[in-house]
Amino acid sequence: MSQQPYQAPRGTKDVLPENQPYWQMVQDVSRKTLEGVGFQKIDLPHFENADIYNRGLGDQTDIVQKEMFLLQSSPEKSEDSSYALRPEGTAGVVRSYIQHGMSSWSQPVRLYYIGAMFRRERPQKGRYRELYQAGVEIFGDASPKSDYLAIMSAWEVLKRLGLKNLVVFANSIGCSKCRPKYLAKLKKYYKELLANVCEDCQQRYEQNPLRLLDCKREQCQNTTENAPIILDSLCNECRNHFQQTLEYLDYFDIHYDLDPKLVRGLDYYNNTVFEITVENDRNRQNTICGGGRYDGLVEMLGETSTPAVGFACGIERIIRLLKEQGIKPPASRGVEVCILQLGEKAKEVSKEVYDQLSREDINVYFVPCNDGLRQQLQTANKLNARYAIIIGQREAMKNEAILRDLSGSTQELLPSKFLVEEVKRRLS
Ligand SMILES: [Zn+2]
Ligand SMILES: [Zn+2]
Repeated sequence: MSQQPYQAPRGTKDVLPENQPYWQMVQDVSRKTLEGVGFQKIDLPHFENADIYNRGLGDQTDIVQKEMFLLQSSPEKSEDSSYALRPEGTAGVVRSYIQHGMSSWSQPVRLYYIGAMFRRERPQKGRYRELYQAGVEIFGDASPKSDYLAIMSAWEVLKRLGLKNLVVFANSIGCSKCRPKYLAKLKKYYKELLANVCEDCQQRYEQNPLRLLDCKREQCQNTTENAPIILDSLCNECRNHFQQTLEYLDYFDIHYDLDPKLVRGLDYYNNTVFEITVENDRNRQNTICGGGRYDGLVEMLGETSTPAVGFACGIERIIRLLKEQGIKPPASRGVEVCILQLGEKAKEVSKEVYDQLSREDINVYFVPCNDGLRQQLQTANKLNARYAIIIGQREAMKNEAILRDLSGSTQELLPSKFLVEEVKRRLS
């Protein structure tokens, strides 16, 4: 019986060579942009103690309840199961901030990461169980400057990638002083309407009423239409904070819109929350970036209260949007020059030429083989090299080389000493 070939696990994908230029571009632009506004890179383990997610994200959230991959390396020992593949980046960065005493570093501490996250989601179009995110966290600044910096740097990454028609949806979900009053109003409003909302929402009513606003089901959206708006219930401090953040966005010409139903899926947020998507996506099916302020999380995970704000962008979603908008990544340089040689003396000279070109950061392919010239030329063509340098026994003796343009099939004989300069000139 023939065996079915193995497949990548459900909800995962291979990034094949043809798609790599998109991945490269997103990572390069993210790195360059974020470092350019003062963020430093941090790499963290792909799994952490599951507790940091239970406590940090909230054990009533979908991520923790339904989507976490728990690890159990030896079934007999129950402590092994207390690890989880990271479902998001923030809790791990907070763990690292505390572990490495970053509160004693010069504040604010600005960190960014790029890497894989894991969620046991129901696989569907555009949703992956292994997904890549680029994100930032800013610790130690309670002022709206950092809310602005988070939104602005996400916006700048997306803009530099060439994405168009973007909009930031923003909201404030208040603080521990003003939110409870709002939640009481919200629950009062929903009390009469509970029969109309979905089962999940009935549970949210008890456990996490703010997320009633966030339900994507149509039956529930009708109900949220007339729900009280949190912006009307903010305390003065929260209102001023949000107002100042929006004024900064105005200065920078960032296109934003207020969305009183935007609450984000995680428990740790307070004050500013935001998502970036394309215009006309009010239900945000195509959100590519989300974030907000989370002043309570550092304390929740064990250290003294530390203000913080951040965002995460979904790299798969960004790439989907780049393709939809017809934005092409720069082509890879690939092989620029192939050195073809014939004979012992030519091999020696070729090695020198190879070293010289490499030092100039030119991509060179050279294998000191004994293949015939025709075969070596075939190899150069298969590699899509732009130029071939041909050195036979005669050229080697006379300190010369043939430079052949493989696209135009023209060639010229050059003294060896001019060779590298000429290749550089033509490539530039
Ligand atoms: Zn408040
Ligand atoms: Zn619902």
